Formats: sequence, C-alpha cells, structure tokens
Amino acid sequence: PRIRRLEESVVNRIAAGEVIQRPSSAVKELVENSIDAGASTVSVTVKDGGLKLIQVSDDGHGIRCEDLPILCERHTTSKLSAYEDLQTIKSMGFRGEALASMTYVGHVTVTTITEGQLHGYRVSYRDGVMENDPKPCAAVKGTQVMVENLFYNMVARRKTLQNSNDDYPKIVDFISRFAVHHINVNFSCRKHGANRADVHSGSTSSRLDAIRNVYGASVVRDLMEIQVSDENAVDEIFKMDGFISNANYVAKKTTMILFINDRLVDCTSLKRATEFVYSAILPQASKPFIYMSINLPPEHVDVNIHPTKKEVSLLNQERIIEKIKDAIEEKLMNCNNTRIFQTQALNSSALTQANTRKDKGTEVSTPTGEKSQKIPVSQMVRTDPRDPSGRLHTYWQGQTSNLEKKSGLVAVRYDLH
Ligand code: ADP
Ligand code: MG
Repeated sequence: PRIRRLEESVVNRIAAGEVIQRPSSAVKELVENSIDAGASTVSVTVKDGGLKLIQVSDDGHGIRCEDLPILCERHTTSKLSAYEDLQTIKSMGFRGEALASMTYVGHVTVTTITEGQLHGYRVSYRDGVMENDPKPCAAVKGTQVMVENLFYNMVARRKTLQNSNDDYPKIVDFISRFAVHHINVNFSCRKHGANRADVHSGSTSSRLDAIRNVYGASVVRDLMEIQVSDENAVDEIFKMDGFISNANYVAKKTTMILFINDRLVDCTSLKRATEFVYSAILPQASKPFIYMSINLPPEHVDVNIHPTKKEVSLLNQERIIEKIKDAIEEKLMNCNNTRIFQTQALNSSALTQANTRKDKGTEVSTPTGEKSQKIPVSQMVRTDPRDPSGRLHTYWQGQTSNLEKKSGLVAVRYDLH
C-alpha cells in the first residue's frame, strides 16, 4: 500500500484522543490551568459524567484578548519558550496541547477577563480555531472554560464511556487530591444543577484541616505526620512531607495522594513499596491512607514522559523509595504498640467490666486473661469498625474469650495454633 501524509485535522484528532482520554482528564487539565493562573478559587461543574458538560471557573489572571485567536491552537503556550525551560519548569502545563485537544473532541467556550479591563470576552472554538470573533461580555475576575459534548466525533469512545461507570467519581477524586495539596485554594465540585457540592475544600492554612474538609474527621484522627529528607550527598537531595495512616485506620483500598514538585502523579513502585510495609507490619488487613509531597531539584525530574503528565521519572528513584519505605516502617513500628481498641457487650454482667483499654503489645500473652466470661456470640454488638470482636479470629478460639482484646502479631499467631 502507498504511504501518504495524513491530513492535519486527522493528526490533531488522533493526538487529542491521547491527551484527553476521558472526561476526568479534561477536568485535570483545566484545573491545572487554573492553578497555573494563580487562582484562589476553582469551581467545577459536571453534567452526565462530563460527556455533556464540564465547566471550570477560576479567579486567576485571565487571558489577554489579543491571545484569544491562538489560545486553542496546538502547541501554543505562555509557559515555555525554549526546550531548556523544561528543566526548571514550575507550572503544571507546558505543552500547549490541552485546550487545543479539547476543541478537536468537543465544543469549547472560553469567557475571560484580565485585570484592569472593563469587560471580558467570550469566544467559542472548534478544531483549534475560533468560531467567531471574541464577543465583549460581562465577566467576573478570571476565566471560565466550558467543554460541551465531549467525544461527539469519536463514536467508539463515547460508547465505551457511556457503558462504563460514570466518570464523575474520578473527577471528584482528582479535585479532592488537588484540594489536599493546594490548601490555600478553595475548590468545589458539583454535578450540574445540584445544590450541594461533593467536594468543598475552603482554603485553610493547615494540611490536616484540608484533609478533614475533603476526606472527613475519621481519616484525620488516624493520621501521623511523616518527614524524610536526604540532603547529605550533593546529587541526592530530596525532601518528603506527608501524612500516613496509623494502625487504627481501616480501609479496603489504598488512598495514595502523591505530589512530586507540586505535580499530581502516580508512582506504582512507591505505592507498592508502601503497601508492602503496611501489610508486613500491621496484622489488620487494612490498606493505608497516604499523602506525600516530594520535592527534588527540578533538574532531577523529567516531567515529559507521559502524554497526560500522569507520571514523571526521577533521578535516584530507587534510593528515594527505599528511604521513604524505611521512614514509614519506623513510624508504623512505633505506633503498632499503642493501638486502641474499644469493645462493648450487651450482657449486663459484662457491662461492669472495663470497656476501653490501651493495649501495649507486650501485655498480651495469654488470650484467656482476666475476662474468660462466656457471652453468646449472638449478644455481642460491634460498636466500632476497628473492634476486633466480630472479626473472624475472635470466633476461632471458641466461646471462651469473646471479649478478649489483643494486638500485635503475637496474639494473632496464637489464635492460629
Ligand atoms: P499549557 O497549559 O500547556 O500552556 P493549555 O492548552 O492548557 O496549555 O493552555 C494554553 C494557554 O492558555 C496557557 O499557556 C495559558 O496561558 C492559557 N490559559 C489556559 N487556561 C487558563 C486559565 N484558566 N487562566 C489563564 N490562562 C489560561
Ligand atoms: Mg494546561
């Protein structure tokens, strides 16, 4: 067969499909643009999981009227001019492809006003170009980008997205992560027409407050602060600050919020290493909650290895992971000895017995200690998800010590005999 040159519109649409893989990737790009624009408020509205409408409004610096004609062309950006700039880049965007891509797979309308202007401008785009001249309009500070009918021209993708689960939970997840890291930005995310926002972070000065606002007080109660730094060798400088869950935290799925040089990224090897430490040290089968912000010299991070910037590659990655793993291990070892259990029995005779006790792992040696009173399983009530009674291993040892509280690997092994 003959080889021919593809038309530019085809090339662009193929490339766009890679940058904007699903509605949540469009939301991520738009929110990153808002943060790059110095916004302190970012509001997201979504209809039909993002297929019908995605709207992101910010109060950032806005876009100049004279830049609007090329705003949505491919490879137009205000964040980069020479390739070398990539080495020290601080902004999240740099490729100038996100807005362009959205215009190839959806209908984009931008309303924006820059400081000192009396009115803003509104303009719609399709396939990289303006559909009309920018129209003067009333506007509040910042930029609002609206993406409608995403993937209207990609039948297969629209179908799979309609069939698969709605993308809205993913969008909420992204916004939640951003809210935990950018604590001075007020994020909100809601479904179109809903009164209540599903994420409402409110800007704060404390990381724990931010986590509480988004993930709830019960998560924050079980978090410990962690810091690691390695500043000895000249070429191996990194710093990590974060919060990790302790031995009392219970969850079926790992939540790992990772920012490297302020970029939201995934790092499978770090996630695996962390999960491994948790499963090795804690007897409960709980998965961890992790927030980590890693900072390295910009020249140690290659930000340009993934089309959606979802991954970065690091210099000395293995060493960094090893250090973080060690630090988590140490934290967990310390906290595993001071786990708190609560138990409560309906049986009135048992009520007189102490209900709460702090267990030092070492105290637990005889599973049939002071409380050998027999209580039928049917009368036991689990009042706390962390309560060991009601778990399988409570029943294994027969009816003799249902109220027994224990912790540590020692106790669990005892049961297995
Ligand atoms: P990139 O972020 O890689 O530069 P984008 O296509 O996402 O590429 O955006 C193109 C340009 O549009 C940006 O460089 C920026 O100057 C401008 N821009 C996009 N979104 C906003 C916004 N919310 N506020 C201000 N400027 C924006
Ligand atoms: Mg961008």
